[in-house]
Amino acid sequence: MAAVRQVDVIVVGGGMVGAAAALALAQQELEVALIEREPPASLGGDDPFDLRVSALAPASIALLDRLGAWAAIRAERAALYRRMRVFDAAGPGDLTFDAVEVGRPYLGYIVENRRVQLALWSRLGAFDNVECLTGSEPQRLEVRDRDVSLTLDDGRELRADLVIGADGQRSWVRETSGIGASSRDYPVAAQILSVETGYPQQDITWQRFTPDGPQAFLPLAGSRGSLVWYDTPERVRARHGLSPEALRDAAMAAFPDELGEITRVAGQAWFPIRRLHAHRYWADRVLLVGDAAHSIHPLAGQGANLGFADVEALMAVVASMGDRGMGDTRLARAYERRRRADNQLVQSLMDGFDWGYRRRDPLTVAARTAATQLVAGVPPLRRWMTRMAGGQRLGG
Ligand SMILES: Cc1cc2nc3c(=O)[nH]c(=O)nc-3n(C[C@H](O)[C@H](O)[C@H](O)COP(=O)(O)OP(=O)(O)OC[C@H]3O[C@@H](n4cnc5c(N)ncnc54)[C@H](O)[C@@H]3O)c2cc1C
Repeated sequence: MAAVRQVDVIVVGGGMVGAAAALALAQQELEVALIEREPPASLGGDDPFDLRVSALAPASIALLDRLGAWAAIRAERAALYRRMRVFDAAGPGDLTFDAVEVGRPYLGYIVENRRVQLALWSRLGAFDNVECLTGSEPQRLEVRDRDVSLTLDDGRELRADLVIGADGQRSWVRETSGIGASSRDYPVAAQILSVETGYPQQDITWQRFTPDGPQAFLPLAGSRGSLVWYDTPERVRARHGLSPEALRDAAMAAFPDELGEITRVAGQAWFPIRRLHAHRYWADRVLLVGDAAHSIHPLAGQGANLGFADVEALMAVVASMGDRGMGDTRLARAYERRRRADNQLVQSLMDGFDWGYRRRDPLTVAARTAATQLVAGVPPLRRWMTRMAGGQRLGG
């Protein structure tokens, strides 16, 4: 029988958030085991762009920098943006947030998710207090008096003070530990098109709201971009079957002139959109981070940013706990106190945008135009929203 491996913390899920959490804990000199069923495949500079890209806010970039991963992420195909424009297809509302207004060199970077994950994994390799167990999944979780035991599907057993669930929206850890969640599907799906464009690289990301859902452009390095096309799941599924040429024609017909010409659709995928909030962020010797705890409408590109803010909060709480073990419920409570309100606020704001922009009645169109003009015309409000999009909020 294989020996039982004893560590301080087991992190289940090595996506962007789980890998960052494992690295942050390793930096705090804890023994960490990271379990990931599907480690990230390599991504060379000449490979096609990863279809999943994220707009990372300054607060997330600062965290990745402290974890020693940002330089490698930035070095390969990261696209800086300084402005973010939001406009309404059904009314005159039009608003641009600009980094200059808040004294920052940029609002964020668009990066490939896999590159972020790879950079974090590469850093993990430098720590001999981290063990990455790949290709297996946890099968059994047992909380005991002094520790928690996790058995993998290949029979290996690990014991730790704490298990962190970073295993995404369908979190096994969340469900197995009985935490549960409230969730609801949005009536739209997101189709992602990785495109080559007639325009060279932009420093602006924009989003046009239509009653069927937003249409977003995220600039990528070179003359490339990522389009996010929210629409009914039926229409998205139908378009998914189109040839790249037909898809290009469909996107050019539907997207605003700001897009310019699409010269090629290099790849596409689609995702159902679901909102989820765990009833609690912890149970005995279990803690949730990232999408395992909360997932939101991606229309403002904040999901991974919230996950990185979870990691930041976890680091702060662990640092303040001194010698108390990682299984101490005071740690879990302090972590949830720091994060729940912020995640809830952003989730509700996304719901508000989604609801408000999908309505076509003249009264709602007039109300949202007035709201946009208010933000556009009141610089302190606009600056507050710009900072909030950058990850600075609730007095942070
Ligand atoms: C269309 C779209 C656009 C988005 N755009 C943005 C954006 O611009 N900016 C932004 O901040 N966010 C964005 N998001 C949200 C962002 O992608 C997620 O919030 C983020 O990926 C969550 O990271 P995570 O590590 O928590 O979870 P995940 O990325 O889901 O990672 C979970 C990991 O756990 C592993 N795993 C799962 N179950 C198990 C198991 N049982 N055993 C072992 N391993 C397991 C998985 O293989 C995976 O690697 C977007 C989301 C969508 C759908």
